[in-house]
Amino acid sequence: MLVLDDPGKVQELTEAWRRAGERIGFVPTMGALHAGHQALLARARAENTRLVISLFVNPTQFDRPDDFRTYPHDLPRDLRLAEEAGCDLAWTPTALQMYPPGPPTVVEVTGLSGILEGAARPGHFRGVATVVTKLFHIVRAHRAYFGAKDWQQAIIVRRLVADLKMEPEIVICPTVREPDGLALSSRNVNLTPEERRAAPVLFRALSWGAGEIRAGRRDPDALRRGIGARIAAATAAPLDYIAVVRPETLEPLLAADPPVLLALAIRFSRARLIDNLLVEA
Ligand code: AMP
Repeated sequence: MLVLDDPGKVQELTEAWRRAGERIGFVPTMGALHAGHQALLARARAENTRLVISLFVNPTQFDRPDDFRTYPHDLPRDLRLAEEAGCDLAWTPTALQMYPPGPPTVVEVTGLSGILEGAARPGHFRGVATVVTKLFHIVRAHRAYFGAKDWQQAIIVRRLVADLKMEPEIVICPTVREPDGLALSSRNVNLTPEERRAAPVLFRALSWGAGEIRAGRRDPDALRRGIGARIAAATAAPLDYIAVVRPETLEPLLAADPPVLLALAIRFSRARLIDNLLVEA
């Protein structure tokens, strides 16, 4: 596995692979790799002839300095896992390489970026859209792989790629969970032992909601109340939102006719977690 930081070299190499007829799969990450990232890598490895991972904790998508400061790092471990996953190239740019000094160019997917996670984290999706645009211009991938855990991010990236006529096909992969249901996240290491014990309630509450919808329940307010009550019984941590929305547009539903996305965000003491569940038509 090659490890490069210089964006110009990455662009040259991926261009050369293209000219040689390779199919390039790309998994953008912020490092601190876990089984969720590994599932994306395994799928990308299987569907392409070359596999590229980026490891970059993108400062512009953090709305809170303490979240950026406490975000876990372990580059040697990440490189080992990337190699084990069959990556041909690990790209580890510096913030200065990605953001040269001076007033920056930014990219914003309007509308979708201002709701749910975007409302709770001002500027977050502008940072995501900006860095993904740069990543996609540098890694000349045919396909890029994103996790359903960050559903809003994945559909914003799809819209970005469609609007700017960028190439990679956006593949959304299912959320990987702990055996108790907690969605894997790099931020889970920042949960206290008590919060970690309570955290599986998120998935249990979402699963309850999905079961209600499958059983014919349609009232979004009752679903939100039921999900909220289940979570409140397990933890005092405040919820940012519980959303009952259309998966492709994130518009709030007056009646929860599938397809429905149930999504939520909760603020534990040192980790804000998100989760969601898709109820398909
Ligand atoms: P991150 O390093 O957190 O920016 O995540 C990099 C990619 O991995 C994103 O596309 C995430 O949606 C995806 N991802 C993170 N956690 C999970 C998970 N538990 N299951 C599946 N994909 C995930």
